[in-house]
Amino acid sequence: MKVVAIANQKGGVGKTTTSINLSTALAREGQRVLLIDLDPQANATSGLGFPADEHPSIYGALVGEESLESKVLTTTQENLHIIPAEMDLAGVEVELVRLFDNHLTRLVEVLEESALVRSTYDYCILDTPPSLGILMTSALAASDEIFIPLQCEWFGLEGLAKITRVVSQIREANINERVFIEGILMTMYDGRTNLSRNVVDEVRKFFPSELYETVIPRTIRLGEAPSHGLNIFEHDPSGIGARAYANLAKEFLKRHQAKTS
Ligand code: ATP
Ligand code: MG
Repeated sequence: MKVVAIANQKGGVGKTTTSINLSTALAREGQRVLLIDLDPQANATSGLGFPADEHPSIYGALVGEESLESKVLTTTQENLHIIPAEMDLAGVEVELVRLFDNHLTRLVEVLEESALVRSTYDYCILDTPPSLGILMTSALAASDEIFIPLQCEWFGLEGLAKITRVVSQIREANINERVFIEGILMTMYDGRTNLSRNVVDEVRKFFPSELYETVIPRTIRLGEAPSHGLNIFEHDPSGIGARAYANLAKEFLKRHQAKTS
């Protein structure tokens, strides 16, 4: 099982939209996927149709009271399971610091301890909050690789510099020596503007191998799908958003197969 954190400390860049729809698209490709919602905002949870605060989150597993597998729920998409978030997850940061000296590696331990989860899934996708708190750092510590959604705007580039620095720090501090930035995904792309094209060109200059060819267009359908609790393949199966995320999953798998062969 490969653990992939969808991360960017900048808010509103498409992390959750990508977590939901990349996970769904990978499952549609026959991959077995576990999506863990690590954001107390619980947007991935509600976006997939699970009312926030009605289901237990990973909290109990992180504090060592419950098993990870007991938190897993099935979704409407075959092969896609989720561990939801709840508002209470915000409190887990304080609890972890109180209970464990090594609080940043609790998520690593929980994932490693669960042989069942490790053998059941091909990919574990982590949706992370837009801050550099303990939950986000724990996700970076537990991940094999980082996938960064980046909004097509100039301020996005500053955010990119920041997150790449944080990933280097995690590696250099020996919190997670194997972690690297596998991919950068341009989101909310507007082909009518020079701005979107210029930002993509700029990212390509500095991150030619990380930048995905697939770009996610800005489309109202992607924005409104979560309010119906639907992924984009349910909400607008033949639209450009569904097509983009289907292409993204194909490119993702192609890159991962190339790396392992
Ligand atoms: P946060 O940092 O708060 O967790 P995020 O990075 O997870 O935010 P999203 O919640 O995925 O970002 O997206 C932010 C907003 O933009 C949401 O309202 C979402 O529905 C909308 N959105 C995301 N991607 C697109 C897109 N390609 N086209 C149009 N709207 C989008
Ligand atoms: Mg989010």
